[in-house]
Formats: sequence, C-alpha cells, structure tokens
Amino acid sequence: MARITLDHIRHAYGPNPSSEKDYALREVDHEWEDGGAYALLGPSGCGKTTLLNIISGLLHPSHGRILFGGKDVTDLSTQERNIAQVFQFPVIYDTMTVYDNLAFPLRNRNVPEAEVDRRVRDMLEIIDLADWSNRKAQRLTADQKQKISLGRGLVRNDVNAILFDEPLTVIDPHMKWVLRSQLKRLHKQFGFTMVYVTHDQTEALTFADKVVVMFEGEIVQIGTPAELFERPRHTFVGYFIGSPGMNVLPARLEGSNAHVGAQAVALDHAPDVKAGDRIEIGIRPEFIRIGREGMPVRISRVEDIGRHRIVRAEFEGQPIAIVSAEGEDIPAEARISFDPSAVNIYANSWRIGAK
Ligand code: ATP
Repeated sequence: MARITLDHIRHAYGPNPSSEKDYALREVDHEWEDGGAYALLGPSGCGKTTLLNIISGLLHPSHGRILFGGKDVTDLSTQERNIAQVFQFPVIYDTMTVYDNLAFPLRNRNVPEAEVDRRVRDMLEIIDLADWSNRKAQRLTADQKQKISLGRGLVRNDVNAILFDEPLTVIDPHMKWVLRSQLKRLHKQFGFTMVYVTHDQTEALTFADKVVVMFEGEIVQIGTPAELFERPRHTFVGYFIGSPGMNVLPARLEGSNAHVGAQAVALDHAPDVKAGDRIEIGIRPEFIRIGREGMPVRISRVEDIGRHRIVRAEFEGQPIAIVSAEGEDIPAEARISFDPSAVNIYANSWRIGAK
C-alpha cells in the first residue's frame, strides 16, 4: 500500500483553457496517508471522478504530478500503477463462474493455486456468495454481480491502493449497509489505502477516516466527520454536510457581536476581518435552543420526523432551521438562543477566526 501525493494537480478537458472556469480541477495539492480511508464527497460535476481517474491513470492531468509512496507515477499506465478499481457498474467476466472471476486477478499474478483457493473462499464468505461459487456470473442479479466486482477488487493484497467510484449505487439499501460495514472491517484488517467516491454524505461519513469535500473543482476541506460537522471551513461544507445543513446568515460585525438585522449575536471572540469584507455567521440547526428565552423568531413550519422535529422559522427576515428534541416545548412566541462557541464566522464564504 502507498501514500498518495497529489502535487499541484490541475485538469482541463478542453484544449485551450482561458480562465479558471475551464478547469474541471483547479488546484489539488495534498498528501494522503498510507493506509488511510478517504471518501471524496461533493455534488455532481465537482470533479470527483476526474480526480479519481487521474489517480488511477485513466486520465493524464494537464498540470502537476502524482506520486505513490514518493515515486512519480504520472506517466505510468493504470496497470503499471498497481491499483484495484471498483466502478459504479459491475465489471466482470459473464461467462466465467463466480469463483473464477475472483480467482482471475490472483492467477494473473501467478499466486499459487492453494493460496488462490484460500483467498477466493474467504472472499466468497465476505460477499455472501459462497453458495453461488460455481454459477456462471451471467446468471446472477445486478446486485450479486456488483458484489463480485467488489470481491475482485478486494481479493488482491499487493495493490498500492483500491479506488471505488460510487460502487454501491446498484446495491439494494439493506445490502448497502452490510457491504459498507464489511468494507470498513476489511480496511481495518488489511490496512489498504482506499479512495472512495460518493455524493452520499451518509456513505462518506460512516465509512471514511477522512472525508475530502470537493466543490467546483477544488478540495474545500479534508477532515474527520466531526470536524466537518462542527467547523466547516467553507459555507458550502456547512450546507452540504448535515440534514438540514448549517444555517448561514449575513451579518455585520461590531466588536465581538455579529448583528443579524436588529439582533446582536454574541461571538466568543472578535474576528480579524478586513473592512468591507462580507461576514456570515454559521450555526448548526442542532446547536440552536428554542423556547421562551433569547431572540425572537417567527415559526413557519414544524416537520415531525420521528426522534426530533425540524422547525422552519424566520429570524430577522432570514430563513433558519432548528432541530428540536421530541417533547420539547415550542411556544407560539418562540425565541432562540445558542452558545457563542457554536457559531462559525465566515468572510467571503471561508471560515475565519481562532476556532
Ligand atoms: P458526478 O458525481 O456527476 O460523476 P463528478 O464530481 O465526478 O460528478 P466529474 O465527472 O469529474 O464530476 O466532472 C467535473 C467537470 O468536468 C464537470 O463540469 C464535467 O462536465 C466535466 N467533464 C467530465 N468529463 C468530461 C469529458 N470527458 N469531457 C469534457 N468535460 C468533462
């Protein structure tokens, strides 16, 4: 397994990029740890697949270099990079049996047959296809075929990294949970470097040690699920992670208060911002208390979603979401309050200040 270094990578699909907008990847400069489980998360079109294809060697970047374990692999083919890949749709040999599909990548590398048999049988158990091992792959469901693809990626233990591109899209929801936790277990057991593309935040947060959030061709934050939740570096991360996302309110700064309309919101420090910078404050719906104390809001709707309720309200003319625990009193003349330390402060969409 190997550390992956992305050295000032930029990529444009067109021949003559004239502005930043022409780049599908604007600037990716990062080092991913050996044995790390990284999820690439972001909306459609943000550049996840482009970055994955550059790592795998399917795409040559317009600028920059890629290194595995310190060795420059930018000009090497996918095969030469020695990585396993699992795509959104099954890539298997339909006319081979399930067993032979899993054995193929090992036999291809001259692994002794006894070792092939041991590893294939272990993998058949993991992907829950032991009873199907002698079936031709073409007779299986789409779900089962994708499990073979996963198995083929995981059965090798000599790869530099395993790359997954939304591999669970065609898997039914229950099996998704099962496979996801098995993947996590296998990762712990074998310690492979794993890059996993998804646009599903639950998938990314439950599965990765580090989540790489991409937006408009850039990595806007790399962090643990807790860091992304509590301290989003960019307002986009705040919106995108969490359900509902972080409330972002335009504000005016006066000393260590942020004024939202006529209300002064106390901050736990005076941020250092340039005169004229646009300020926004970010506060998670989960960190807002609703009751009879604090600043007035006008409730527009209460959504009961079981364990808690989502209150949609207006605060100084701005829409705001509040998560309220089941059974909590929501008065008609409601007021909100929150701890100053739960507030993130943004200038031009990027988080500022000491936190
Ligand atoms: P999705 O989740 O929809 O797959 P993504 O985050 O993986 O999206 P990419 O597929 O990497 O995003 O696309 C990034 C940008 O590059 C998009 O604007 C897309 O339209 C563009 N793009 C992707 N592939 C090509 C291509 N072969 N030729 C031209 N433009 C492309």
